[in-house]
Amino acid sequence: MAFIIIKPKRDSAFQRKHPWVFSGAVAKKKGSPAAGETVDIVNSRGGWMGRGAYSPKSQIAVRIWTFNEEEHIDPAFFRRRLERAILSRHELKKRLHLSACRLVNAESDGLPGLIIDQYERFLVCQFLTVGVHTWKDVIVQQLQELVAPEGIFERSDSPVLDKEGLPRTVGCLAGHEPPETITIREGDYRFLVDVRNGHKTGFYLDQRDNRHLVSPYATDSDVLNCFCYTGGFGVPAMAAGARTLTNIDVSAPALDLARQNMALNNLDSEQVDYLQADVFKQLRSFRDAARAFDVIILDPPKFADSKQQLDHACRGYKDINLLAVKLLRAGGYLFTFSCSGLMEPALFQKIVADAALDAGRDAQIIGRMGQAADHPTSLAFPEGHYLKGLLCRVW
Ligand code: SAH
Repeated sequence: MAFIIIKPKRDSAFQRKHPWVFSGAVAKKKGSPAAGETVDIVNSRGGWMGRGAYSPKSQIAVRIWTFNEEEHIDPAFFRRRLERAILSRHELKKRLHLSACRLVNAESDGLPGLIIDQYERFLVCQFLTVGVHTWKDVIVQQLQELVAPEGIFERSDSPVLDKEGLPRTVGCLAGHEPPETITIREGDYRFLVDVRNGHKTGFYLDQRDNRHLVSPYATDSDVLNCFCYTGGFGVPAMAAGARTLTNIDVSAPALDLARQNMALNNLDSEQVDYLQADVFKQLRSFRDAARAFDVIILDPPKFADSKQQLDHACRGYKDINLLAVKLLRAGGYLFTFSCSGLMEPALFQKIVADAALDAGRDAQIIGRMGQAADHPTSLAFPEGHYLKGLLCRVW
């Protein structure tokens, strides 16, 4: 087996079982491993450190599969990892009455780059690293045995694939093609999901707990749901008896599904508005028109994909939070999120604090939010915690 020697003093991350080896930490490569091939990692003193998948194009040269020298990377390895991840979700699905759930959450489930989401009888997968791409057939076979789904659909169409030198691939991997929309159940609510064309694998499963948190605040309130996508936050808000709901998104297909989701939950109502608009502009029009709301949800897309974009992202978050704070009535609630992994929680909090300060409003944090339990964060991989939310009361 080819192996990679790590530079002296660059092995501390391994002691903490962090699964990434950056190309800058590589001193030497022995042998000529192909992309995705299994390599051993040794330190400068020749000590065995780990075993992972080699990725020559990426800045992350190796993603570790195992820190156990006895463990071989073969179909049985994938079976063990998939089984543990999938079994741990069974209980959750039962407890929360879910028919859609993330079954495998990449690094945090010991399978770097692999996302598997279940939507009813279908699995939707993303193979985002050359390591899991290499083992795709084995993984698909194991998923058929472990879950016996009606079909397995691939949505490996994220821009992160470019960094791995992998092509974007969308299509059926096994069984039947999924229908145009799949109806999923999430506790008391049902949602239509377009797994072929929707964002990511079709739905923001990571926001599940936070959707439900909105309910008690929405009763008798005017709710503004910014970046609403298919109306995930709007459904519980209307079900809890919101006075009005304003959904904003740039995407017409997303708004169309948002409308259908409202009807599916018997919440079709003249009190719900759907605005196809840019949130940045729409919030300014609301400000100019002196509109006011009791609850505002800000769940923007990822504003930063790289460190270079972080400054720009900060300005974007500041802008929408400032506008939103100004639109809240005294005592109103702001649910504000960032799903950019590069945005540290402390920095995000500072941006929201600056927004309140500039708006001349007093605000308190009354809740902190994160991603749902089927999106775990391995303690060895803090980067896995990407979704941050603050629930603020604004005076
Ligand atoms: N809150 C949603 C998920 C939001 S994802 C949920 O819980 O399901 C981000 C959404 O923002 C996407 O639907 C995307 O179409 C939309 N979007 C991106 N940029 C936008 C902009 N400038 N103005 C309005 N919507 C935007």
